[in-house]
Amino acid sequence: MATALKNDCFLREKGLVFNIERYAVHDGPGIRTIIFLSGCPLQCLWCANPEGQQLKQQLSFFPDKCTGCKECILICPHKAIEQKNNKIIMNWDKCNHCLKCVEVCSNEARKSVNKIMNSEQVLKEVMKDLPFYHRSNGGVTLSGGEPLMQCDFSANILKLCKKEGINTAIETSGYSDWGNFVEILKYTDFIFYDIKHMDTKEHKYGTGVGNEKILENLAKISILCKDIDIVVRIPLIPNFNDTEKNIYSTAKYVKTLKNISKIELLPYHKLGAMKYEYIGKPYLLKELDSPKIEVLNRFKNIIQSNDIKCEIL
Ligand code: SF4
Ligand code: SF4
Repeated sequence: MATALKNDCFLREKGLVFNIERYAVHDGPGIRTIIFLSGCPLQCLWCANPEGQQLKQQLSFFPDKCTGCKECILICPHKAIEQKNNKIIMNWDKCNHCLKCVEVCSNEARKSVNKIMNSEQVLKEVMKDLPFYHRSNGGVTLSGGEPLMQCDFSANILKLCKKEGINTAIETSGYSDWGNFVEILKYTDFIFYDIKHMDTKEHKYGTGVGNEKILENLAKISILCKDIDIVVRIPLIPNFNDTEKNIYSTAKYVKTLKNISKIELLPYHKLGAMKYEYIGKPYLLKELDSPKIEVLNRFKNIIQSNDIKCEIL
């Protein structure tokens, strides 16, 4: 049976994890293990991890693996699956993600996108990579989704990692209550913090929420957390935030903050587009191309002209 989690009531020791990626090199110092946690308060149009947006267990369907045995049609209590022209089709509107069909599919054409884990299980996965952290000064990065959406679970994972002497980082949209940051940042060495747009109306158009809370939290972190290394990230999305005016005003804002080590530019890509099909969501940015290197370099120059270090990822 699918399980929905509530931020304030689920056990501190358990949470929903939708991926664990090993040997990552862009999300903190050294070689890192990235723990992707489900649930996000934003709905960015370009999201590369749409399967991580919901804080509940969720079905994914991979038609290429389906042999047409029809076991799933027989078991689905909501008639969300049918056969048309010899193909198995999902009616996503009818699916309530009960995951009964996953149990009968012997071809792995149906899977839960995430699973419930406790923090000890996550630590066990993390500890497998300990030799890599030691050799590279690496560690663990919590990502998502938005790790602060499962604040207690995230804090517990980070705390366990710190007990083992492992370097910790989080990637955050910044959209969370300040109390959640206070809890998480006790156990965090490194923070990647997104600024997606300096204009709150535009921010709301692209992500579903305004930017006030995000900018306010970043200002507080930059003043209060002197021991945490802060990197600001700008995902560069064509026709959304890729204007000189926006980059200039982001740089100007960052310049007013303390403890920001650099700005990283993350060019838009379509690597997550296929995932939308697997979870029955439309991908609205099919026509967009990645920004050209000349454009990226122009923005990098604007940022550097404000005496801020800048890297293009
Ligand atoms: S149970 Fe799996 S393999 Fe069989 S029809 Fe359904 S999706 Fe396809
Ligand atoms: S997860 Fe969706 S498709 Fe699968 S059995 Fe439940 S309602 Fe039907």
